[in-house]
Amino acid sequence: MHDFFRAQGERDYRVAQVERWIYREGVNDFDAMTNLPVELRARLKAYAQISNPTVVHEIKSADGLTRKSLLRLADGETIETVLMLYDDAPRGRNVSPIRLYKRKTVCISTQVGCPIKCPFCATGQAGYIRNLTVGEIVAQVLHYARVAGALTNVVVMGMGEPFMQFDVTWRALETLCDPKRFALSARRITVSTSGEIPGIEKMARAKSQINLAVSLHAADDELRNVLVPLNRKYPLRALMRAVKAYSARTHRRVTFEYALMDNVNDQLEHARALAQMVKGMLCHVNLIPLNPTATEKFRRSPYARVKSFQKILQDAGIPTTLRVEKGIEIAAGCGMLRQHESPRHS
Ligand code: SF4
Repeated sequence: MHDFFRAQGERDYRVAQVERWIYREGVNDFDAMTNLPVELRARLKAYAQISNPTVVHEIKSADGLTRKSLLRLADGETIETVLMLYDDAPRGRNVSPIRLYKRKTVCISTQVGCPIKCPFCATGQAGYIRNLTVGEIVAQVLHYARVAGALTNVVVMGMGEPFMQFDVTWRALETLCDPKRFALSARRITVSTSGEIPGIEKMARAKSQINLAVSLHAADDELRNVLVPLNRKYPLRALMRAVKAYSARTHRRVTFEYALMDNVNDQLEHARALAQMVKGMLCHVNLIPLNPTATEKFRRSPYARVKSFQKILQDAGIPTTLRVEKGIEIAAGCGMLRQHESPRHS
C-alpha cells in the first residue's frame, strides 16, 4: 500500500489512516473515510478498490452462537468461514446482540479445497482448487469483524492446509497481529496443521506467540496413513521430532487435535498408544467429536467411548479436553456448507 500512496505523491501517514478505516473500523467505502481530503477519496475510487468476498449463503445454529458463511471470491471460487460466540452471553434476553459477546472466534480457511484429502473431511473429499492470497485470508476476518465488532480469537482450522503455503499464511497472521491493523494478540491466534513439518520448523524459528495445533487423529502410522494421507510423507516419528523441537525452542505448549471416529480410532488401545506417544511432551490433547460428513463410513464415536478414551489419557497424566461442539446442526463440519451449495465439488 505504501508504494501505491508514494506513487500518488501522498505521505506515509495516509496509509495508516486508510488502514485504520479498513481494519479497525471495517469500512469498505473510500467515501466513508472522512479524514481523507475529498480529492484523495476521489482518486482512490478511480485507481483502487477494497475487494470483499460476497456472501453466497450464511446459516446460523439454533442458539445463534455459531454462524457459517460461504464466501465467494473474485474468481467465483467459494470458501467457508465460521464465527463462534462463547460464554459471557448477556442475560435476560432471548436473542443477544452479537457485539455484546466478549469472546468471538473466527475460523478461517487458507485454501480453496484441500490437497491433503483426509477421507473423513468434506473439504478433503471435494479436492483442491487453489491457494488463497494474503488478502483473501485476511478478508475472512474482516467479514466477521464487520458483523460482530472486534474479534477476540482466530483459529486457522478451516479449509486447507495452512503450511502448504507457509509464507502467505504467516503474512496474513502478521497482518492480524499488527497493532496498526487488527491488533489481535498473537496468543489468541491458533494455526492448525495436518503435519506439514517444514511449516512447523519455520514456525519454531519465527518464535512467535501464535499457538500451534497439530491434527493427529491416530497414533500409529498405518492408521494415520489412511486418515491423514500427508502422514505418508511425514510419518509420526518425524512429526513428533519436529513438534518436540518446536516446543524446546519456543517453550510453547502444542495442542494435538484428535477427532474421534466410531470404530476407527476410538478404541482403548488407540488411547493407550496416543498416551504413550505424547507422554512427557509439552502438549495438550483436544478430543473432538467428529462432525457429520457426507460419508457414512466415518461416524462420531458414542459419548461413553469418548469419555473412556479421555479417561485413559487423563490417567496417564496427559492434559486433555473435549471440544465443545458448536454448529453441528448448521453443517459446521469443514467443507460441508460448500459441498451443499456447490455440487460440482462433491
Ligand atoms: S481435515 Fe484439514 S487437512 Fe484434512 S482434508 Fe480436511 S481441511 Fe484438509
